[in-house]
Parts: sequence; structure tokens; C-alpha cells
Amino acid sequence: MKTRVDVPSLVALLCVPSLLLAQAPSLSTPAVEARIDALLKRMTLEEKVGQVNQISPGIAFGPQGQRLDAEAQVAAGRVGSMLNLQDGKQADAFQKIAMEQSRLHIPLIFGLDVIHGYRTTFPIPLGLASTWDPKLIEQTCRVAAQEASAQGVRWTFSPMVDIARDARWGRIAESAGEDPYLGAVLAKAYVRGYQGERLDEPTSILACVKHFVGYGAAEGGRDYNSTEISERLLRQVYFPPFQAAIQEGTASLMASFNALNGVPVTSNAFILDQILRREWGFQGLLVSDYDAVAETIPHGIANDGATAARKAFLAGLDVDMGGGVFLSELATLVRSGAVPQTRLDEAVRRLLRLKFALGLFEHPYTGGAPADTPLSPKALELARRAAEESFVLLRNEAIDGTPLLPLKARVGKKIALIGPHAEDAVEMLGSWSVRGRAADVTTLRAALAQRMAQEQMTLLCAKGTDYFGTDESGFAQALSAAREADVVVMTLGETAEHTGEGTSRAHLDLPGNQEKLLEAVAATGKPIVLLLFTGRPLTITWASQHVPAILEAWAPGNQAGPALVRTLFGDVNPCGRLTVSFPRAVGQEPLYYNALSTGRPVHTDTDLTRPPRGYEASRWTSRYIDEFNAPLYPFGHGLSYTTFQFSPVKVSAQSLSATAVNEKGAQLTASAEVTNTGTRAGTTVVQLYLRLQGTSVARPVRELKGFQRLELAPGQTGHVTFQIGREALAFWNLDMKELAEPATLTLWIGPDSASGSPAEVRLTD
Ligand code: BGC
Repeated sequence: MKTRVDVPSLVALLCVPSLLLAQAPSLSTPAVEARIDALLKRMTLEEKVGQVNQISPGIAFGPQGQRLDAEAQVAAGRVGSMLNLQDGKQADAFQKIAMEQSRLHIPLIFGLDVIHGYRTTFPIPLGLASTWDPKLIEQTCRVAAQEASAQGVRWTFSPMVDIARDARWGRIAESAGEDPYLGAVLAKAYVRGYQGERLDEPTSILACVKHFVGYGAAEGGRDYNSTEISERLLRQVYFPPFQAAIQEGTASLMASFNALNGVPVTSNAFILDQILRREWGFQGLLVSDYDAVAETIPHGIANDGATAARKAFLAGLDVDMGGGVFLSELATLVRSGAVPQTRLDEAVRRLLRLKFALGLFEHPYTGGAPADTPLSPKALELARRAAEESFVLLRNEAIDGTPLLPLKARVGKKIALIGPHAEDAVEMLGSWSVRGRAADVTTLRAALAQRMAQEQMTLLCAKGTDYFGTDESGFAQALSAAREADVVVMTLGETAEHTGEGTSRAHLDLPGNQEKLLEAVAATGKPIVLLLFTGRPLTITWASQHVPAILEAWAPGNQAGPALVRTLFGDVNPCGRLTVSFPRAVGQEPLYYNALSTGRPVHTDTDLTRPPRGYEASRWTSRYIDEFNAPLYPFGHGLSYTTFQFSPVKVSAQSLSATAVNEKGAQLTASAEVTNTGTRAGTTVVQLYLRLQGTSVARPVRELKGFQRLELAPGQTGHVTFQIGREALAFWNLDMKELAEPATLTLWIGPDSASGSPAEVRLTD
């Protein structure tokens, strides 16, 4: 029987455009400002400079770049914050020096890259984004904040909200993917989760939204490389997640390493001062990336430390992370008048304000919690759920009439588990797993062995190959296990060394000889379930044609094994959706769904399987002669063990006045019915896309403007409504104003960025 559920409209999820950017409540109160004033009066110039200096323990630099003893620096008041401490014991030891030996007893703040969990390790951010579940992400950040704060960490350098359109860039693993709308929604969730209700709660930690801005657009996908991004593209694509995080009250922001339009962002006054401070009114703290002030010298915009410090500080940076250049240069620059004293006071004030907001003056120490307490069962359950929701079922073909997944448990049947990730606890933690421990990981092999024993089935294991190199000595054992088994589960992909910072790849295939092993195992004729462990989309074109079931598992975290086994056997139904396009070939990168059309788009009936012949018409269109334009798997894609059917889109009006949208907040609604047409309960992510044509500047062929996770029982129909108003329709027009314009508006409500049947609306004057 068909039932019907109503799903609330998505107004709450729609981002507020920058014009309407509302700031979160200020941390500045008269009482706090009075305390800061009193402190500033007592501070020497050197002590003020010390506050804007951030160091790692054991790595402090003096005026001539010489290494200094961190303890002595803290005692002398030459350090304001520290990063990368091991645990609460070490943090307390440094704090004791600051509180007892430094002249003004100003507490330190301890920062760390708590990126996807502290000790309880959740999926990597790209996996978390694939859940399309902001509430869940917020919960993971809350757990991370609780665990980190217990060890003295009150500042995380997360979330990374860089838009990542290029799978070659290793840091795509740390991102939410290629879409600014989704990125903005998730940025807010991260900030809420870390910062909690109030910063002075002992479990609240400061968020640091990074890397501002454009870092993900590195040319050639090569980390740290230059970027050239027009102001319109910055405003339309790269800024929104930062604006959303600021709106949510992020306490801090990190400037990015890259040169943007010729000027390293570290010293880019247009970005740091004009946009961030003046236009958006951001009051929080702005920290450099690691050593980035000093790196403006090799960038080529400074020939010495004094110039590097002056340019970055005058551009608006408050804190020098790790480089020691502010420490060695700023006092002289202030004395000479090259840097105004007021600029220094402003930077120090911002940092002190956060120290007061966190309650550090009153409660500088940790509660002394040991670093190795067992993980909480509730946190582990959340980690398992996050992993399950992050998995994206890319393909699931039928074998003998039924989809290969979920696996059918049958007494006496044999599964061959092949591949290097199956028992690798470390690789389940992924890159930037700061305090995650391999001992806390349940591997796939362990979890599968347990399940197989319960089901009275047999597990045959063979590593087959390693992640790197060409050694084939393990192939024979893998092939014999495959031949003996009824079904093969293969675990292939990348390692933490392939993903994250400094891991750009020019090739996007399975590293080492994993593809060769896959093809050899496939040649046995046994059905294969391929589990991919990656930090980015890979070019898995061969697998997409020859392997019946493919599940993208990212780096799933502590609960990798249980989450995978429950998914393989269908205890849970996969519901993750891609937030990055999977390319067919590296040459397609950067590849993203929300691209512009060009004046010569490929005609839909063009045969792209062969090069154009001679002067045939398709030659003169925007295409490759040796590859499709379309991705292998598009943004938003993800299958389920059930099926969903989407009705055509219904709109509340055939036309809408753009003026009324701009001036009176006029809106229309778009709705659709989604039915679970399969035999099991499942969750789909209903996605709203739009396109504007006839506008003053070209707009993308599609843009995500809303989404809703919808859980439906078999046969059940859900009704989803989206409000479409200024937030969705305004864009940065020819006059660089964020407005709706008269246009043809096309709308899709569908399961991904490449399908759905469109509805059209006229946007009139
Ligand atoms: C990275 C940042 C990170 C910082 C501190 C840098 O190399 O780019 O993302 O927060 O190091 O570890």
C-alpha cells in the first residue's frame, strides 16, 4: 500500500547570501574589553608580539632564525599559542610555565588539527560529506571537541571548507567536495559541533575555518601551487562556505598558502582586509598557515623577513603559525613606524578575547584526564553510523537475476577476502588522524571473520598485493582463494600516504599493481565486490565495466570493520552520495558538475565513443576526441539496496518577478514525490538543482540549491518541498551585485546532478 509522509520544506538549509551575512553574537562584552584594555596597558611591545607568535613544542625560533627552547620562550612571554602538543600532561606543563613564570600570567591556547575525530576516528571529511547529513557531522565534531578538550586542545584547525574541483589535489580528502552550497551547509555543522553552545563550556573548542581562500584551485592540482580565480568565481563558488562558517560564529580563520591572482593570500590585503574584515565584518582571529609568512619570500614578494612580516601583518593577518617571523620582526617594525601600534593591539586584542571567551584565565588547566582511557561506546556507535552513512554504492549489478549486494548469508558458502586494506588497521584511520590509534580499529577481516563464523560460512583471506610496487608474489594465493570461493570481496585503493596534504597525484588509477590484481581475480569469473578505500575519486573505468559491485568506503575510521560488514550483509542500506565527480580519465580534471556551458556545447546525440571524422560537426564542439565529457559517476550519485522513483517537479507558479524576489523576498515552491519502489527500507538524498539562462553573466548548467535526506519504507511515498527565493536565485551579476535577474529558470528534483525531469519557470522583470 502506498503511504505518504510530508517532509518539512528546506528553508532552514538554504544559505544566506553574503549581502545578508549576519554575524554570530560577538564575543566582545564591555567587561571583557575592559580586561583586555587593562592587560594591553601593562604589556610591553615584546609581550604583545609574543602573543601573535604560535609555536610547536621544541620548535621555536629566535631573531636570527636559530632554534630556541620552547619552555624558555613561554616563560619570557614570547609565545601566545602552541600547536601539536602530545596530550594534556604536556599542555598542562607548558600552561604552568605561562601562568606561573611569565610576567603577566597570560594563558596559552593549544591548537591541533583535529580533522575527523580526536581519538575516536570518524571517516575522513570527504567521507563525512558523502553522508549529506549535517546533524551527524555536528555530532562527530562534538565528540571530537569533548575528547580534544580533555587533553587541553581548545582550538582545532578545522573545518577545511576549500572547494575541491580537482581530484589530483590530495587535500580533496579533507574537503566536503566540489559544491559551494553543500560546503556551506556542512561548514556550519562543523562550527556548531566544535564550538558548542558557548565557548566557555569546558568541552568547547574554537573552530578555525581554512584555508581562506582558493587553495583547492591549485593549478594542475599540485599542492601549494598558484591560483588564478576571478572575483566573480571567488564570490560565487569559493567564498560561500567561509561566509556560512562566519555566520555560524567561527572564532577563527586560516589564510591559505596559495598565491591568488599573483599575491600570496598570507599577504593579500584584498582578501584579508577588504573582503574579510571590511565587507564581511569578521571580528575573529586570522592565523597564517604553517610557516606561510616566511614562505612569502620564496613566493617572491619579499626579500627578507622584515618585509614578509610587514606585508602579511598589514594585510590583516593576526597570528604567525610556526614561522617565528612576527616574533623576530614586528617589534622593530612597530618602533620604526612601519607597522602601526594600533594594528598590533588589534591582533593581540582578538587573541585575548578568545582566551577570555574560552575561560582560560579562570581555568587554564585540563582536568587531568589520562590520554588512554577506553573509547566511549556511544562515540564508537556514532563512528560506526558515520562510516555506514558515508559509504557510496557506486554500482550493483545483478548476478543470476539479483543484485550482488547485499551478500546472501548461506551456511557453507565461502567468501574470499583479497587486498591490502582488509587487515590494515592504520589505513582505516586515513590522513590527518591526529590521535587515532590502530589498536582502536576493528578491521574488516576481524569483523568479517566474526560474522562468517556466526553464519557458518568460510572466510578465505589473501593480501594479494601491497599498495606500492610491482611485486606479484602474492597473486597466486589470491587467485587460488578466489577460485575456491563463491564470491570475492576485494579491498583496494589508496593509503594515507596517497591522500591529504602534499599528496597531489598526476595519475588517478589504483596505485601499484592493484589494478592488475583486480583484473586477474576478475578473470577467474567469480563475482567481485570491490571496496574502495580512497581519499579522492579514482579513475576506475575498467572496474566500472567488469566488476559487478563497487562500494566507495573512503577511510572509514575506527569502526571500519563493523560498518562494512553490516553494509555488505544488508543490515544497513547504503545511503551515501558523491560530493565529487568521478572522472573517467585524469585529463578530464578539474571536473565538476556545476560548470558553464560554453558556446559550443556537445549535442546530446553526439557519439563520443569515437573521434569526429574529418570535418564533421561535433569536431567544433567542446569535447575530447578520445574520452567522454561526462564523469564516470556524477556528483550526487549513489545507489541503494532499494530503488526510488521521482515524480516530475511541480512548481507553485509559472512565473516570478525578479524585482519582487530582490525587493520583497518573493518565492516559489518546487515539490516532488519520491517513492520507495523496492522491497526494503532505505534513505535517499533528494536533490534540488537549478539553472538560469538569459542572465547578464553565464550561469552553470546546474547548481545544487537544496537537499533533503528522506527515509522511506517499501512502497512509501514522501513529498518534498523546497522554497526557492532570493537565496537560490541571486548570483553575482555583471555589475558585481548579488541579485536575481529576469531569466529562464529550469528546476530539477532528482537523485543526482545528472538526472531528473526538468520544470521551467519564467523569471520576469
Ligand atoms: C596545513 C594546515 C594545518 C597546519 C597545522 C599546514 O601545513 O596546511 O591545514 O592546519 O599545517 O598543522
